Amino acid sequence: MRELFCDECKKKLDFVYVHGYDFGDRIMEGVRFKVRVIDGKPECFGLHPDSEPYMVQFNWEHWKQRCEEFCERADLAECPHCREDVLVENDEIAESRPKPIAIGKAESAIDVLKKLKFCILMTFIIGVAFGLILTS
Ligand SMILES: [Zn+2]
Repeated sequence: MRELFCDECKKKLDFVYVHGYDFGDRIMEGVRFKVRVIDGKPECFGLHPDSEPYMVQFNWEHWKQRCEEFCERADLAECPHCREDVLVENDEIAESRPKPIAIGKAESAIDVLKKLKFCILMTFIIGVAFGLILTS
């Protein structure tokens, strides 16, 4: 997990919800963990209020750690505002993605010639104008 940004809300998120089912299977089904990113590291710091009563029977430290381990390689989480999936890139995914290469529009020979013709024409006009000024 690196940056948390929701394309739907078009804003940076303070935290996302990670579904317990993704790393805890059936017993964590429906439990939503709050995760934020501190210095590029995912940190689980709480639960959705609806999940709190259910979670009291479990060892919080254990599941918090399981959640954080999962987040290291997670690529999707839930936006707390619109509940849409948010892409939470991990370093591996970010590195493996081909970097966009900026390709400048190559100038064709015709474009170059047109510019050249324009320059010659301008020089000619300026020359004539100067000539007229000097001879008048
Ligand atoms: Zn959103």
